[in-house]
Amino acid sequence: MERTTHGSQCLSTVPHGEESTLEFTATQKQRLIELDIEETATRSEYASEKDRDAAFRTLERELVESTRERLTRLQQEKLRPSLRVLEWNLVAWLTGKGFVEVSTPTTLARGMLTKMGIGEGHPLLEQVYWIDRKTCLRPMLAPNLYHLMGHVTRTWSFPVRMFEIGSCFRKESKGSRHLSEFTMLNLVEMGMEGDSQARLEVLAHGIMEVIGLPYRLETEKSEVYGDTTDILADGVEIASGAVGPHPLDANWNIADSWAGLGIGLERVVMLKEGFHNIRRVGRSLMYLDGARLNV
Ligand code: ATP
Ligand code: MG
Repeated sequence: MERTTHGSQCLSTVPHGEESTLEFTATQKQRLIELDIEETATRSEYASEKDRDAAFRTLERELVESTRERLTRLQQEKLRPSLRVLEWNLVAWLTGKGFVEVSTPTTLARGMLTKMGIGEGHPLLEQVYWIDRKTCLRPMLAPNLYHLMGHVTRTWSFPVRMFEIGSCFRKESKGSRHLSEFTMLNLVEMGMEGDSQARLEVLAHGIMEVIGLPYRLETEKSEVYGDTTDILADGVEIASGAVGPHPLDANWNIADSWAGLGIGLERVVMLKEGFHNIRRVGRSLMYLDGARLNV
């Protein structure tokens, strides 16, 4: 967990209107936010410029110190960023359960999105990065996995299990939980015995045991699948799962039952590390393993 200390001369409890108080300057706020202080802490108020600037210097020093500690730990102990370690642990668990790892292209033909029901007028289409008229950067892994499933089931015996880990791209109205490029882990199991929803939940519990965060499952409406089973940690969606048979299956020559789960790995690391902004975890030239580089 990161340190989130407050300046000692903070007067945020002083009633408004009785004394004039000062907030941090815009530049000070920006610096504290890039060092990932909690947003509310930037709204503290101080009696004078001197108090405020002293509080800023203390806060900045503490945050810079913990950032440097984190960078040093990466070189001297960890060697791999938390995101990659999480990936490694999940790969070990999945392959141990008989899931085959696959790697598919990052670019996607428009037709593959159409087969996912993401055509003209679909809200997700607005979030797609187009390379040319017919090719985009994949916003999800599901179409490629659907495609592979349709083929391997001719050869592989049931249950067929596979997963992919890779970048997905979405235009997002910037927030602290969304990246334009993020890492999705998508697993799918097909041709299982018994109820696919029950199996999805077993898989979700297994994955969450590896992740090691308290969580709950919740049914959500999805623009692609109708209903999804989401995994929420600390009230934040970290994964969405769906089951088949499903109306989309016919587009991919699939008729068997399946369970699939897409997990956003940066969201998981953000929550595990107690970060306030997902940008610390994503592919970046400004952060390394969650540590801001300009310190
Ligand atoms: P949200 O509602 O949070 O935008 P979503 O339901 O659109 O997410 P899904 O399509 O269900 O996302 O994708 C599966 C998982 O991928 C999400 O649960 C989340 O963890 C992660 N994810 C989705 N979009 C982003 C993003 N822009 N940046 C980081 N992670 C994301
Ligand atoms: Mg979702």
